[in-house]
Amino acid sequence: MTVKDRRPSQAAFATATFTETRRVGGEWRQVPASRVHAKTMGSTVTLCGQSTLSWFKFWDIAFVTVQSDRCPQCTDALAQRFAEARRR
Ligand SMILES: [Zn+2]
Repeated sequence: MTVKDRRPSQAAFATATFTETRRVGGEWRQVPASRVHAKTMGSTVTLCGQSTLSWFKFWDIAFVTVQSDRCPQCTDALAQRFAEARRR
């Protein structure tokens, strides 16, 4: 699968300033412990424009699947991308 094939929902990962270790489905995993922002591969800023250089990147967690404390600006920015992708 190439990057081109990815839908916008899969292309935006979750990223957060703080994390905690929690047992998820029988294994210990890093989970967000602060507001969750969206970030795309190859970018160093969130969709709402904050630098993520020192933040934890959840490469295996799609932003759209995050249930708790999602950044509203990132959510809006992602919704905008969906709308643009549909128009093409
Ligand atoms: Zn954000």
